[in-house]
Amino acid sequence: MRAPVADHDPVTPANEDGGDQRTVAVVGAGITGLVAAYELRRRGLHVTLYEASGQTGGAIRTSHTDGFLAEHGPNSFVTSGPVEALLAQLDLHEEVVVANPQANRRYIVRDGMLQPFPMTPLAMLRTPLFSLRAKLRVLLEPLVRTRAGADESIASFVRRRLGHEVLDYAVDPFISGIFAGDSEALSMAHAFPRVFALEQRHGSLSAGLMATRGQKGWQASHAAPPTEGGEQADDNPPPAAPATPARLISFVDGMQTLTDALEASLLGTVRLGCPIRLLHPKEGRWAIEAGQDGASRPRTVDAVVMATPAHVLAAMELPAGLRQHAALVERVEYPPVSVLTLGFERGDVAHALDGFGMLIPAQEQRSLLGVLFSSSLFPDRAPDGCVAITCFVGGARMPDRAREETDLLVERVLIDLRQLLGVRGEPVFAKHVYWPRAIPQYTVGYQAVKDAADEVERSNPGLYLAGNYRHGVSVGDCMASGLQVAGQVARYLARPN
Ligand SMILES: Cc1cc2nc3c(=O)[nH]c(=O)nc-3n(C[C@H](O)[C@H](O)[C@H](O)COP(=O)(O)OP(=O)(O)OC[C@H]3O[C@@H](n4cnc5c(N)ncnc54)[C@H](O)[C@@H]3O)c2cc1C
Repeated sequence: MRAPVADHDPVTPANEDGGDQRTVAVVGAGITGLVAAYELRRRGLHVTLYEASGQTGGAIRTSHTDGFLAEHGPNSFVTSGPVEALLAQLDLHEEVVVANPQANRRYIVRDGMLQPFPMTPLAMLRTPLFSLRAKLRVLLEPLVRTRAGADESIASFVRRRLGHEVLDYAVDPFISGIFAGDSEALSMAHAFPRVFALEQRHGSLSAGLMATRGQKGWQASHAAPPTEGGEQADDNPPPAAPATPARLISFVDGMQTLTDALEASLLGTVRLGCPIRLLHPKEGRWAIEAGQDGASRPRTVDAVVMATPAHVLAAMELPAGLRQHAALVERVEYPPVSVLTLGFERGDVAHALDGFGMLIPAQEQRSLLGVLFSSSLFPDRAPDGCVAITCFVGGARMPDRAREETDLLVERVLIDLRQLLGVRGEPVFAKHVYWPRAIPQYTVGYQAVKDAADEVERSNPGLYLAGNYRHGVSVGDCMASGLQVAGQVARYLARPN
């Protein structure tokens, strides 16, 4: 349902009628914008959250049909202390479902067969996933010379340090799983900053892993967002994070529970069907124009948080100086992805589906990037006697495949599923969601995008950029980004004039 631009928008009247409460417009009600608005409100600021589409959540959306639960975007995410604290504030603990411990098993396809990815040194020695030569090559990793500071592709980094087989049958499929991306194009330093830092600080991955044992390792997370130099102390930080280990979670009724709970907590401040189309500095504040053609109205606020995809800023009406930097931010690539959730009678799938899912290396020349065993991961994803699996198609590797019509897509995917998982018969359920711009690609040279985003903020006091193209693509990273930007805005508005 779309809410018209309200005559009683709390932002403008409170301010223009002479009230002294500082006002903030958050643009984009994906998880980043929702968390930012929630945290700004918790800090006592007057917030309005503008969303172009008819519902909140952005990439997060869940549908329920005939007993099947289909996630349109993310299926699960990894928590951190601040995220756990937020879940507690939202009273969501009863709703949380932790992934089945079997989720530790992830299959990789090699020569048409599913092989469990080796998770221990012994399993690595025994696995048929890698040749003896590849295993010996991994043992030589500590002897490989460091390449100081270079912004190198993930493919080049992994080939250099671990050899091409580890790239092809371990890293490349995981890159497809996280970014739907191309390891030849993505930057090691920007997509996996922690792993990149192991080589830079310790000379090799092995030495780095030994030195940092017990800390977080191979993950794309930027979970500890960068802190700005010289930042003032936060006098109203988010409630202390409980000492909970990171968990892979979803919710009983799916991921949308999270964004629905945030929306409900923001009662009266969310404007749906209300794109922001103009942004201009005005006497130390920000003039914005919200709403559809013919129904838009100008407003003035003290700060603006842009929590939209990168290309949105450049498409807005902006002053020339801001446009120049926005054009650089706009360059971020977002390849298309199709998400196909399929349901089968249990007896029609030969494989045990005992794990997180399977990833398919490019070498295997399949239509699929990867498959999640959704009904094995979380309860109640399929009716009794059935299973649900979620298939990902397209990405940077095969963008045209993502764009195919549903019938053709199902046909292609079924060919792979029959050969790889022993699927017989036809699906009893199918849900196809197409994302024309799915996940931002942190490509080599991404520093220019980050610098441009920093410059936008530096030269436009009161304007902030947040979201998955800045501090990491995962849901947990986006939540951290929302919390971080809310703290920055609160400090900006609390400064003496
Ligand atoms: C298919 C898919 C699968 C994924 N799987 C996982 C996973 O399993 N685990 C995980 O951790 N992450 C996953 N991710 C990544 C993660 O879901 C996203 O990075 C994250 O949800 C992005 O949130 P966001 O708020 O930054 O942006 P978005 O969700 O893109 O939200 C931006 C919002 O801005 C709105 N908007 C745009 N223009 C305007 C305007 N002019 N005015 C007002 N509003 C505007 C949009 O309508 C949208 O609602 C997945 C992503 C996709 C697409």
